[in-house]
Amino acid sequence: MNAPTSFELPKAGLVVGERYLTTGSGGVHQHHYAADGRVQAEVPIAGASEVDAAVAAAKAAFPGWRATRPAVRRDLLFKLAELVEQHGEELAWIGARENGSPISGVRMIPGKFAAWTKYSAGFADKLEGRVVSTFQDDSVLDYTIPEPFGVVALILTWNGPLMGLGMKLGAALAAGNTIVMKPSELTPFTAWRLVQLAEQAGFPPGVLNLVTGGAEAGEALVRHPDVQKISFTGGVSTGQRIATTIAQSLKPALYELGGKSANLIFADADMEVAVRHSARQPLFLAGQGCILPTRILVEEDVADEFVERLIAEIRSIRIGDPMDAATELGPVIDARSQARLLGLIEAARARGDGKVALGGGKPAGVNPDGYYVEPTVFTGVDPQSDLAQNECFGPVLSVMTFKTADEAVEIANGTEFGLGAYIHSTNLPRTLQLAHRLEAGSVQINGAPTARENAPFGGRGLSGHGREGGHDGMMEFVRVKNVAIGDGALWRR
Ligand code: NAD
Repeated sequence: MNAPTSFELPKAGLVVGERYLTTGSGGVHQHHYAADGRVQAEVPIAGASEVDAAVAAAKAAFPGWRATRPAVRRDLLFKLAELVEQHGEELAWIGARENGSPISGVRMIPGKFAAWTKYSAGFADKLEGRVVSTFQDDSVLDYTIPEPFGVVALILTWNGPLMGLGMKLGAALAAGNTIVMKPSELTPFTAWRLVQLAEQAGFPPGVLNLVTGGAEAGEALVRHPDVQKISFTGGVSTGQRIATTIAQSLKPALYELGGKSANLIFADADMEVAVRHSARQPLFLAGQGCILPTRILVEEDVADEFVERLIAEIRSIRIGDPMDAATELGPVIDARSQARLLGLIEAARARGDGKVALGGGKPAGVNPDGYYVEPTVFTGVDPQSDLAQNECFGPVLSVMTFKTADEAVEIANGTEFGLGAYIHSTNLPRTLQLAHRLEAGSVQINGAPTARENAPFGGRGLSGHGREGGHDGMMEFVRVKNVAIGDGALWRR
């Protein structure tokens, strides 16, 4: 892996129509670099007035964008995807600086953004309604039209800023909506750079708008009467808060929330694959991923051997500075998250939720001012404990055992979440039966990848609802109108 070239962190700010604003009425957020704790930028925060202006710009741009030929929308999105690929090294660098993810991991993200955006772009000129069956009454022609909503708010979290945008932006725009994006105040830089690239691609002003800020800006955005649909990625309590805020207006929203995904390891699994996947996947982004397999359920007969190999594999993962190309595990996002995780580990240990078999504190050999947390493995975890039931959103794994497939399903389905589930077994009929029984939005068998652009991604239960990706993800950004043409026969005397 090549060492990363150094780039400048762009000035983050707001984009309202054709205006780029580097100040906001909501004040300033001091942005810290997660690997050393130092302030690396000041980020302007939008107030309600800038949110109003961004929504107004998106509303003004909507009629023109909706009337733009779908093939033109498609080509603009393709151009944006190509520009992101061309600036891939720079965007990966910005991504690593803004949330502390290792450059070795985020180098593939610009390519993922491009893949998602091109996939959605392809729908722009293929979104079609259907002719509704009128077999009982041949005097009626009945058909459907997929229509854009208008102004759509895209509210994002910080763990994968460019990936999160890729999962929403192309689909929203291909369908003919205009957008106001609100990245997390912790990761405002990628979105800012992306809007510049969109301008370079030739998107008209007002089609993509950007507001920075936290809860206040997000609240003003979702509450805004001219925002017709919300696509939200974030925590459960914020999702619940948004649902309450928009309850009166009944406006539709997609919620991509947290998870506590179970990873079932059967004795007949390919152990090399199962061990590597179970050790490395949950530590991607320092464990700060919604669908990571953080609850490991292993068949009792092979549990000792599996745990031994799991711990050896995790020990081999290189912790360090995100900009070092050899680093595989970086810091968590901020000081608050680091303190929260260390507290959560200590509380789980004190309660006896499980036994700490690895880690549990701050790692040695890294910058002590960085927000690092050791990869931590709890074994013998009680499935009903706080540790097993709640999302940690950090490098913390819980291992439990099961005797039968029925017991594994019961434990796996025994939380309020339902985002992902994973199975490792060479018994194909069994994996397929289990896939039906697991309460999750997606089931990955034998290390299959997640979050592919052509497959639906999303949860059930407290993991939210709605889908991103695939045809289902595209349909989230249209509303279907039904038109029926009669011949007046019903009303003739
Ligand atoms: P968060 O809910 O605190 O923030 C998410 C976004 O919502 C941010 O942009 C934030 O500023 C905004 N926000 C906060 N309060 C708001 C309000 N009242 N109204 C409108 N917007 C508001 O979440 P976080 O800490 O940034 O992210 C971590 C969570 O996100 C985890 O639970 C994780 O599982 C989840 N997540 C889910 C997915 C998914 O696709 N399912 C992907 C990544 C992360």
